[in-house]
Amino acid sequence: MTDLDNTPLTTGAGGRLPVLFVGHGSPMNAIEDNEWSRGFSALAALLPRPQAILSVSAHWFVPGTFVTGNEHPETIHDFGGFPQPLYDMQYPAPGDPDLARRVVDLIGSDTVSLRNDWGIDHGTWTVLHHLYPAADIPVIQLSVDSHRKPADQIAIGKALAPLRREGVLIMGSGNIVHNLRHAMTAYHRGDSSTPDWAVRFDADITKAIEKHDGNSLAQALESADGRISHPTPDHYLPLLYAFGAAGGDYRVNFPITGFDLSSLSMRSILFL
Ligand code: ZN
Repeated sequence: MTDLDNTPLTTGAGGRLPVLFVGHGSPMNAIEDNEWSRGFSALAALLPRPQAILSVSAHWFVPGTFVTGNEHPETIHDFGGFPQPLYDMQYPAPGDPDLARRVVDLIGSDTVSLRNDWGIDHGTWTVLHHLYPAADIPVIQLSVDSHRKPADQIAIGKALAPLRREGVLIMGSGNIVHNLRHAMTAYHRGDSSTPDWAVRFDADITKAIEKHDGNSLAQALESADGRISHPTPDHYLPLLYAFGAAGGDYRVNFPITGFDLSSLSMRSILFL
């Protein structure tokens, strides 16, 4: 379900760009015309046009905090078994080495370092293809650090917050519920009903976000619903970086909600 008609055009408080979390779902959303791809396209109208984009993608989940420093990041097709047109897609946005160095300054060189062996992965480009199809806004990525605790991941997001006043759109890309094995099994059975644990976890996270409850967000994967919603944490954790960047005083709305493939939460979040 998309709620874009009812969402006000936003500029953020005090000249800050909003922070976006987007549920990216299947890579097929890049090439299909469906509810989700139309939702991604419509998101652009809710945002002031950024000067650059910093994406924290579930698909760069590595032991360490890194930021891409390439001038010309490659489009990474990090998936298997999809139709050729998906592999043919390119998202030739430029990088932004100056912004990458700024990110190192903000987070601290003891914590983050530049890398040129990653580019724009599908957690980023399958969404940006719809938001900014001209690919003319520079894009850098920050890794999701698998060695850090949730509180540290929130703190890294918080350190990035000044970029919002420098024309940078901070975007987390994952899914609030992401159990791919369940989703694929349901898909092959032709079952589109959403299980109770997925509905509950999506609702609990929504409530925690509305209440600015970082402790609940940090501990969410330890619950029974959290464990089944995320057999691995990669698609959840970009939310923590986005939440950190949003700061303590945000307003929030959810321009896209609903489930794809039975249990994949497609909820997107605009922190204002
Ligand atoms: Zn994904």
